Amino acid sequence: MEIENQPIHLPLLKEKQVSLSIKREDLIHPFISGNKYRKLKYNIIAAKSQGFNTLLTFGGAYSNHIAATAYAGKLSGIKTVGVIRGEELVEKWTENPTLKLASAHGMQFKFVDRETYRNKEKLEVLSSLKEEFGQYYLLPEGGTNSLAIRGCEEILTPQDASFNYVCCAVGTGGTLSGIIRASSPKQQVLGFPALKGDFLNEDIRKFVHKENWTLQTEYHFGGYAKVSRELISFINDFKRNTHILLDPVYTGKMLFGLFDMITNDYFVAGTKILVIHTGGLQGISGMNAVLQKKNLPLIAV
Ligand SMILES: *Cc1c(COP(=O)(O)O)cnc(C)c1O
Repeated sequence: MEIENQPIHLPLLKEKQVSLSIKREDLIHPFISGNKYRKLKYNIIAAKSQGFNTLLTFGGAYSNHIAATAYAGKLSGIKTVGVIRGEELVEKWTENPTLKLASAHGMQFKFVDRETYRNKEKLEVLSSLKEEFGQYYLLPEGGTNSLAIRGCEEILTPQDASFNYVCCAVGTGGTLSGIIRASSPKQQVLGFPALKGDFLNEDIRKFVHKENWTLQTEYHFGGYAKVSRELISFINDFKRNTHILLDPVYTGKMLFGLFDMITNDYFVAGTKILVIHTGGLQGISGMNAVLQKKNLPLIAV
């Protein structure tokens, strides 16, 4: 599947003589957001060819990966089980838009306390899940494994080699790893982590053996799914000026960071930048519910 690059025209870009295009992976599907589709593709093929009829994976209550897995499972006729962090959700998961959608697409949930969730890769947890749900194909939290990275290599096309920089938001680093692997050696790949953590460099090095990439670690806004008024207003301005909606967890932080770098003359005149819009838009209604409770401005959709 080839996705078009949309050129962006904004006064700042003109002033700095930097060109910017956005690869609209968010348009792949309304429920399976961009990179999650890429990450699931070869895993579902593998699960089916190995004879599994259930796919089991892990996530938090607003996880794009959970939403995407549920829908992909429905499309490809494989049962899905979501092991969700937070026992308290047993009572109130129907108030959560992500989980409601995943359930509507046939996902079965297992809510576990935080300690069990931390130990989710341990044999005793995995085998008790096997007792409850039968044999399953296991996908890690966030969906990152080598088949997922293979899928993400397909985000870039040969024509994209004409860009000097390729930018992508980072959670586990799986998507970025695929992009680095598919990048041309003359390109620089910039990853924008959506969370704090020094482990990401090492995680990514497990999957890539190139040096043409860096992580821009200053734009996590305090941690995973943390937001500020400034971020929300950037997302709303960006939507008003380009008609492109960004999500507050990943792509909003990446573009905020990239615009900060452009403002501070990180890029020389004539630089051509490609940004990957990985999607994540299903998470906005959940985030807006949280913002509303805190009396903060909402993301305009
Ligand atoms: C999950 C996700 C990411 C991060 O992907 P990783 O492969 O975990 O680094 C980026 N953007 C969006 C919208 C996502 O949902």
